[in-house]
Amino acid sequence: MNISVPKGTKDVLPEDSYKWQFIEESARQVAKAFNIREIRTPVFEHTELFLRGVGETTDVVTKEMYTFEDKGGRSITLKPEGTAGTARMFIENGLANQPLPLKAFYITPCYRYERPQAGRLREFHQFGIEVFGSAQPECDAEVIFAASSFLNKIGVKSTRLELNSIGCKSCRAEYNKALKDYFRPHLDAMCSTCRDRFEKNPLRMIDCKEEGCKKITANAPKILDYLCDDCRSHFEKVKSLLTGLGVEYTINPDIVRGLDYYTRTVFEFVSTDIGAQGTVCGGGRYDKLISELGGGEVPAIGFAAGLERLILLMDNTSVPFPEKPVPAIYIGGMDENSRSKAFELVSKLRQSGVAAECDLMARSVKAQLKYADKCGAKFVAIIGETELESGKVDIKKMADGTRENIALADICEYIGKNN
Ligand code: ATP
Ligand code: MG
Repeated sequence: MNISVPKGTKDVLPEDSYKWQFIEESARQVAKAFNIREIRTPVFEHTELFLRGVGETTDVVTKEMYTFEDKGGRSITLKPEGTAGTARMFIENGLANQPLPLKAFYITPCYRYERPQAGRLREFHQFGIEVFGSAQPECDAEVIFAASSFLNKIGVKSTRLELNSIGCKSCRAEYNKALKDYFRPHLDAMCSTCRDRFEKNPLRMIDCKEEGCKKITANAPKILDYLCDDCRSHFEKVKSLLTGLGVEYTINPDIVRGLDYYTRTVFEFVSTDIGAQGTVCGGGRYDKLISELGGGEVPAIGFAAGLERLILLMDNTSVPFPEKPVPAIYIGGMDENSRSKAFELVSKLRQSGVAAECDLMARSVKAQLKYADKCGAKFVAIIGETELESGKVDIKKMADGTRENIALADICEYIGKNN
C-alpha cells in the first residue's frame, strides 16, 4: 500500500498514546477541580458560524479554513477552533437561562489549512475551557489559573504567561483611530493583507508576521495607553488577582490574538523551547461574541491549549511522562494443555482488571519469553506439564529475577498484591 497520511496530519501510534492519555486525563482532572463540565460539539459546522464568530479579517477565516459544499449544497467548515461551536451550542440550547456562569471544557480535533512545520499541523487537537456569563475580573483570573494549573499538572514549567488587555468597543474606537493615523504614512511599505485590514480592522495589523510590517508595527501606539477607565480597572484587578494566586506574568502590549472576537483580557502561555510556534496556550475574553451570533449580552472568557505543541514541548524539555503501561504478568504455555490453562488464567486476571498477556502466536517457549520481555511484563510465568500436575508455578519478577512458587489458583491474588 502506498497511500500515506494526508499532509499536516499525524498518527498516534500505540507506543505513544499513553502521552495523549496522560495529558487528556490531566486536563479532565483540572477541569473537575474547577467544576467545569465537558461538552462535545460537532467537528463540522455551517461556514457562516466561523465567518461571524471568528471574524472575516482573521488569517483563520481568510486563509486556513477547510470549507466544502456538502451533497445538499450547504457550505460546511471543519472546526478551526472550539469557541465558535461552543458559543453556538450555548445559544441554540438556551443555556443562558440556566444558572450562570456556565463553565465548559472540550478536547477536540481542529482543522486549519496551514503550511505544516514543527508545532503547526492541519489537524491538531485542543483542550479548551469556556466560561459564559461573568464579566468579573475574578472570572478572568479563574480561567487563567485553570490554564496555569493544567500546565503545572502535566509538568510544563518553562512557559511564560504574557498578558494584555485590548479594551472594549469604546476604547478600541479611539485606538483604531490612533493606529490609522500612525499606519497611514507607512501603508505603501506594508503587505497587501495589512493594507486591506487598514480599513476593516486596523488592530489586526499588529498581528502581521511579515518582517517589513513587523518593523513598522513595533513603534505603533499601544492599546494599553488607550484603555477606558472601566477596562483599565478591570485589567488592574485581573493582574492583582493573578499576583495573589502566585501566577507570574509579563505584560505584552502586542498580543492581540488571532481571532476577532476578543475584548479586554487576552493572554498566551509561550515557550522558547519549541521553535517559532512557541504559543502553547492562548485565550481571552470575548464579551461580544454571543450577541454577535444572535444571543443576548453574555460576557465570556476562555482559552485553548494545543496538545501537539505541549507534547513537543514536554519531549524537548524532558518533562517526564508517566511510565508506559505494561502488562502485570505474561503467562506462557509449553504445550496445548498448558496454553489453555494460561489462557484461562489470563482471562481471569483481565476480568478482575489486571493487565495480563499470553501467547496468541503459537510461539516456542523461548520466543514467548522474548516477547514477554519486549512487552515489558512485570512478572512472567511459564506453565508446562509439571506445573499442571503440581498445580503450582514459578512466578519470576522481571525487575530483579527473583522467583516465587505460587499455586495456580492463587496467581490472581498474588499479582493483585505484588503488582
Ligand atoms: P499561532 O500563533 O501559532 O498561529 P493561533 O493564534 O493561530 O496560534 P489559536 O487560534 O489561539 O492559535 O489556537 C490556540 C492554540 O492552538 C495555539 O496556542 C496552539 O497551541 C494551537 N494551534 C493553533 N494552530 C495550530 C496548528 N496549526 N497546529 C498545531 N497547533 C495549533
Ligand atoms: Mg495561527
